[in-house]
Amino acid sequence: MERRCLRCGKPLKGRSDKKFCNDDCRTDYHNDRRRAREKELRAVNRILSNNWKILSAQLREGRRDVPAGDLSARNFNFDIYTASRLLFPGRRIYWCYNCSYRISRTGIVHIRESACQNNAYL
Ligand SMILES: [Zn+2]
Repeated sequence: MERRCLRCGKPLKGRSDKKFCNDDCRTDYHNDRRRAREKELRAVNRILSNNWKILSAQLREGRRDVPAGDLSARNFNFDIYTASRLLFPGRRIYWCYNCSYRISRTGIVHIRESACQNNAYL
């Protein structure tokens, strides 16, 4: 089977472990991969930042028990968080940096400030 450059697809000649046709293709390939990883990381960080701003604003305003729909209306993303822990079946706590929250069966999000994810909560 003919081996091809991972970057440009040209046929490779020479050593059997060669992956690129030249140094430019090798450099471009790795730069593209790094840029893609950084782009993905920035997207996750944007979501975390937005979630943290929403949670912090709720706490600042003294709103510790908020309908999930109110957070969703502010574009809170429930799929992205910095940590989570299952306390017992049916009760999971999520963290977004120093804000923790759990979602009750009735759809109320109970928000607390919680510096350490290992501390007991609620
Ligand atoms: Zn190439």
